Amino acid sequence: MRQGMIHIYCGDGKGKTTAATGLAVRAAGSGMKVLFARFLKNENSAELCVLDQIPGIEVIHLPKSYGFYNTQSEEEKAETKQMYEELWKYALDRAKNGACDMLVMDEFMAADRYGLIPHEEAIQFLKEKPEGLEVVLTGRDPSEDLIRIADYVSEIRKVKHPFDCGVYARRGIEY
Ligand code: ATP
Ligand code: MG
Repeated sequence: MRQGMIHIYCGDGKGKTTAATGLAVRAAGSGMKVLFARFLKNENSAELCVLDQIPGIEVIHLPKSYGFYNTQSEEEKAETKQMYEELWKYALDRAKNGACDMLVMDEFMAADRYGLIPHEEAIQFLKEKPEGLEVVLTGRDPSEDLIRIADYVSEIRKVKHPFDCGVYARRGIEY
């Protein structure tokens, strides 16, 4: 069996989620089964319409969308936490049971930073993951221990972004 590796797409530039999405498409094209989990996201990003149609890619859809975590009330935060704990458990179970060859966790770093997933358990999982499993994590700033465990760490650095000139997110490009 081929050794699966751990990828991180991080940094403050645009392209982390789209890189993970591209890798998922490539993997599916080669016959790999991909499980695509998304943290701190809503359901209206346009790539989901296509990912859902690709044989071999399972996107985990969540019952609710949430706004920015920082602006949530304590009650909403508790609800968010429970939803993402369930997502985390589900994704982990599927990955451990060999239901997928690639596990993508988009915005894993943010979920980790906000304490929405158990950090030590995540580190343990990555250290002891099924041998053939490929794992892809995205988010701005990964912790040192994640960087140590990963095999690929690609930092996308913002040189320019139209947001800085007041341009809003554009459908099909940013979401
Ligand atoms: P993409 O989904 O386009 O690959 P990303 O995953 O790298 O982007 P995120 O950090 O997830 O970027 O940010 C989500 C949204 O914010 C995207 O619409 C992205 O284009 C935009 N964005 C990314 N980097 C910046 C930045 N430095 N300033 C403002 N907006 C940004
Ligand atoms: Mg992203």
